Amino acid sequence: MQNLPSDLLNSLSKYGHIDLDAFVESHGEEHKITSVRINPFKPTQLDLEMGQSIPWATDAFYLKNRPSFTLDPLFHAGCYYVQEAGSMFLELALKQCLDLSKPLAVLDLCAAPGGKSTLINSLVNEESLLVANEVVRNRAAVLAYNLGKWGTDNTIVTNSDPQKFSALSGYFDAVVIDAPCSGSGLFRKQPEAVNEWSLDHVAQCSVRQKRILTDVLPCLKEDGILFYSTCSYSVEENEDIVNWLKETAEMEYVPLALDKSWGIVETEHGYRFYPHLTKSEGFFCAVLRKKSTQSRSHSKRRRETEVTKAERALLSRFLKLRDNQHLFKKNNQFHLLNSKTLDFLMNYEKQLYFKKAGALVGELKGKDLVPDHELALSLNISEQINRLELDKENALNYLRKENFQINSGSGGLSLISYGGFGIGWAKILPTRINNYLPNELRILNRI
Ligand code: SAM
Repeated sequence: MQNLPSDLLNSLSKYGHIDLDAFVESHGEEHKITSVRINPFKPTQLDLEMGQSIPWATDAFYLKNRPSFTLDPLFHAGCYYVQEAGSMFLELALKQCLDLSKPLAVLDLCAAPGGKSTLINSLVNEESLLVANEVVRNRAAVLAYNLGKWGTDNTIVTNSDPQKFSALSGYFDAVVIDAPCSGSGLFRKQPEAVNEWSLDHVAQCSVRQKRILTDVLPCLKEDGILFYSTCSYSVEENEDIVNWLKETAEMEYVPLALDKSWGIVETEHGYRFYPHLTKSEGFFCAVLRKKSTQSRSHSKRRRETEVTKAERALLSRFLKLRDNQHLFKKNNQFHLLNSKTLDFLMNYEKQLYFKKAGALVGELKGKDLVPDHELALSLNISEQINRLELDKENALNYLRKENFQINSGSGGLSLISYGGFGIGWAKILPTRINNYLPNELRILNRI
C-alpha cells in the first residue's frame, strides 16, 4: 500500500463525497489496470487478452494482463492506443456536446503523447481539422509520431506556447485542455510522484492552469466547447478553475448524461474518477460552453501548393486520393491534407511552429520519391504499392532492424506489413535488404 500525502488526504476529507479508507485501500499494487482503445480506421483482430469493454467509450477495453506492447507489431502499426479509461470519457463529452457529423476545428492544447488527440481524431469526420499542440519540444515529436501512426491526413502538430493561440480569435469549435497538473490521480501508476507532491505545487499548478486558459480561450468560437481535465484530485486545480471560468470568462457549465453505475462522482462543477469507485486512475473533467466572443472572420489564404503535374503523377503511384484532399510541398517534402487542414497551415504558418502538417508522404530526390515512414502507416497509401507481409517473428526482426526472412517479394522498394497493416519500408535487392525503419523507432527490447 502506498503512503499518500497527509495534506492531500486532509484536503480531500473536507469534501463529503469521498470514503478515504476505500480511497487509500485502492492504492494497493493489486489494483493496477491497463486499458486500450482501438483505432477505428485500422480494425483487426488484436492479440491482446481483452476483458470488459469500457462503458463510456466505444472500441475500448480493459486488458486482463499487461503485455509488452513493444513486442506487438500491431502496436507499431497504430492499430490501438494504450490509454487510461478515465481519459476516454472525452468521447462521451464530445458526442454529447458537438455535432460530430459536421466538419469541425478542434484544438488539443496540451496534447503529448497523444492519447486524447488520437481519440478526437477517431471521432471527428474526415473533413475536420485537429490541431494538436505540445509546448515541450521532445514531447511534440512523440505526439507527431503517435498521430502519424493513427494514419489520417487531418491533423496538425504544433510546438508552440499557448499564448501564441490567443491571436486565432474565435477559430475553434472545441478546445481540449488536459492541463499539466500536480498528478495525484496517477499515484498508483507512478508511486515516485508522491514525493514530488505538495500543497505549494498544487497552488503553482492552479496559477499555471489559469494562465493557459486565459491565453487560449480567445481562440474558442461563440458557443464553442471547452473540455478541461486534469489527473489531480485537488479542488484548486479542478472545481475552483471551473468556477473561476464561469465567473470571469463568460463560460457556462455543461452537465453531461451518464450512467450512475459507472461510479463517476458528479460534483457541482465537474466529474471525478476515484479509483475505489470507478475502474480508472484518478481523473477530473468538466465541459463549458463559451457564451460570447469578439470573433473576427478568418481570411482564407490559399497559396499555390507548387506541386507540378509530373510530381502529382509520381505521388499518385503511392497514394489513393479522395476528393478534397490536397498535396502541399515544402522543402521538397510532400504532405497530404484536407481543405481545413491546408487552410490552417496557410493562415498560421508564421504564428505557430508546425511540427507536422497532414500526412507526410515523402521527399523528392532527383526524379524519385523517397517515401516517409509516416506514409507506410497512412490510410491513404495506394493498394498498388509492392507489399511484403511478414509473420510476427520476422516483423519483430524488421522492427529491431535485424535480418528477417522473406518468402517472396517482387523486389525493389516494398511496404513491410504485418496483419495487413504497414509498419515501414524496405528495399529488396538481389543480395541484401535495406531496412528503412528510422533508427529512433527501432525496438531495443528483447524480452
Ligand atoms: N493530453 C495528453 C494525452 O492525453 O496524451 C496528456 C497531456 S499531459 C496531462 C499535459 C501536457 O501539458 C504535457 O505534455 C506537458 O508537457 C504540457 N505542458 C506543460 N507545461 C505546459 C504549459 N505551460 N502550457 C501548455 N502545456 C504545458
